[in-house]
Order: sequence, then structure tokens, then C-alpha cells
Amino acid sequence: MKSALTIGTILLLSACVPTTTPTTETKPSTKPTAAAPKAPQVTRSASSGVSAYKRVAQRVEPVAEAACRSFSRDMPRTFCDFRITVDQDARKAPNAYQSVGSDGRPVITFNINMLRTIKNDDEVAFIMGHEAGHQIARHLVKKRSNANAGALLGALVMAGLGGDPTDGANLGGAIGAQSYSKKFELQADRIGAHIATRAGFDAITGARSFERTGGSNSLLSTHPPGADRFNTVKQTVGQIRAAKAQGKTAPITWQ
Ligand SMILES: [Zn+2]
Repeated sequence: MKSALTIGTILLLSACVPTTTPTTETKPSTKPTAAAPKAPQVTRSASSGVSAYKRVAQRVEPVAEAACRSFSRDMPRTFCDFRITVDQDARKAPNAYQSVGSDGRPVITFNINMLRTIKNDDEVAFIMGHEAGHQIARHLVKKRSNANAGALLGALVMAGLGGDPTDGANLGGAIGAQSYSKKFELQADRIGAHIATRAGFDAITGARSFERTGGSNSLLSTHPPGADRFNTVKQTVGQIRAAKAQGKTAPITWQ
């Protein structure tokens, strides 16, 4: 049985790779495609990008699933059964995101322009691990409850001001959904660094895409600055290496 909560999470997804414009919460299936984005800086052909994606997914998916299961014993089995897909729509700006399908399985999607801008397998692995991190840390569920709390508060405030409570609910819901976005991105970066490393990739090289995208310093951006994200990955990899030097495996943490 699907819970109402699970169904609610279908409506939210997390867009994770800032490109020319930061992407916010969207429903990919219903959102009309915006005007053609500025041509991305492609580094490879579509088929080469898809090959890299498949090659990396074979190694990262089992690691991500095992990591997810270790934190999700209270969840249905589908919760960690990642589906990894490619959106072939070449009109979309480079992006990768995590969502939840109607069957309750988490879905990690890279679009084709994302795969054409990626420089190496380490970048694919890190981003894939980052997206899995959103699922492991239950960010979509948390964003949904933040949105609901914000909508309720917004409606009450707007009604108190004599305005339309629906407007207040819409605004409050949007603010609520974003309220933890930057924190969630850094948490997903930590988990992504662990997953990529465990799958045998170099997470620091993988996080160098931040140097190209730069993150975003906009107040309303859902993403922290690229330097913060890169430093978070470096710090996490430092902890992983320190544990390894003592013959231990660093536990996955994200707080
Ligand atoms: Zn993200």
C-alpha cells in the first residue's frame, strides 16, 4: 500500500545541477518546456555521454542501494530500488534530479545535455551519488512537510492581513519548500562523496563540475555557492581517507 505521504512526494523533485539558471521544484512530466536554453558547453557526443552514464550506473547503483538500505529498514523495499534514467529531450538545459515514481521507486534522471557536458566518469558518479543522497536523507519527504507548514502559515498570515488565503498559501508553500534547500544540497554532497568513493571513483575530481557551474550566490537560489559544495566534498573525502589509513571504513553521515 502506498501511503498518502509517498503519493505526495511524487509532486516534488530535487533539481540538483545549477547551470545557466538555477532550477527550482518542478514536475518534469507536466512542466512545459521553456524557450530553448543557451547552448550548453558540450564536451562529448550524446552516445558517448550515455555510454559513460551506463558504465558508471552499473557500479554506483548497487553501492547507493546498499547505503540506502542501511538507513531505511523502516521503509518499503521500493524505497531504495533506484531507477536510473536518461531524459533524451535535447531542448532542456543540462540538469540532473531525483524524483519518486508512482510505484514508489526513487528515480535518478540525467538529461542528455547534462551527459554531454560531463567531463569524466568521476563527475557522473559523484552526481549520481548526490542524487541518491537526497533519497537516503529523505529530502523530498522533508520538503513536502516544509511546504505544507509554509502554506498553512502563509494562508493564516494573508487572511489576517485581509488578503486571499490561497495567495498566502501559495507563497508560503513555495518559501517553505525552499527553506532547507541549501542545507539539503550540502547533505546530499556529503552522501554523494561517500557513495562515489565506495564505488571506486574520485569524488573530488567528480565535484569539479562545481568550478564550471559556480553554484549560485543568488538569495533565492536553491543551491549553495560552488566553493561551499566543493569544500564539503573535500572535507568528506578527507574523513574517508583518514579512516581508511586506520584500516576502517568511514560511516556515512550527512549532518
Ligand atoms: Zn541536489
